[in-house]
Amino acid sequence: MQLVFATNNLNKLKEVQAILPPHIKLLSLADIACVEDIPETQNTIEGNAIQKAEYLKKYYGYDCFADDTGLEVESLNGEPGVFSARYAGPQRNAEDNTNKLLTELKDRSNRNAQFKTVIALHLNGKLHTFTGICKGEITIQKQGKGGFGYDPVFKAEGYDKTFAEITLEEKNQIGHRGKAVAQLVDFLTTKNASE
Ligand code: IMP
Repeated sequence: MQLVFATNNLNKLKEVQAILPPHIKLLSLADIACVEDIPETQNTIEGNAIQKAEYLKKYYGYDCFADDTGLEVESLNGEPGVFSARYAGPQRNAEDNTNKLLTELKDRSNRNAQFKTVIALHLNGKLHTFTGICKGEITIQKQGKGGFGYDPVFKAEGYDKTFAEITLEEKNQIGHRGKAVAQLVDFLTTKNASE
């Protein structure tokens, strides 16, 4: 079975390939010569994941999956959410985004937040979605040098370190993307996938 993963991030591709059985071969966007920006114009994380998977199926004909992630902050009514990548503007800069978030939360006592990843899978003419959530809170200031995006300001529930201070293995175990990928892999490796 061949499946396109709507990404050009080879680390993400390798990570998922490593936990799939060898008969499921993942292809990247580069492998299918998809070089254009895939539209992400929906107003929900789930909507964007589905839009990307449907675009690839429609224009390239491959069974495929796509992911979309956002950080939802309780006291900001779920923002930045679907706008996480461009929260501080179209330059999509992680430093600017985290600074803006810390400023917005400056005087708020409720700092509860969650990361949410939705994976949309287009397989055998059907669409399936898998959602991974990691609950936690936004710190007062940045902590740690690892990770990316909002990692330096996000502490998972029960942890006293941010995502930028724990190992990638730990983050994959408790994190939103790891949970969504685990559901995808579980689905692909059970009989459900051939139904
Ligand atoms: P994407 O859907 O994976 O492109 O993620 C959208 C935006 O959410 C990114 O630009 C990052 O700023 C942020 N983001 C996604 N995943 C993570 C994560 O695991 N840690 C921190 N920030 C993340």
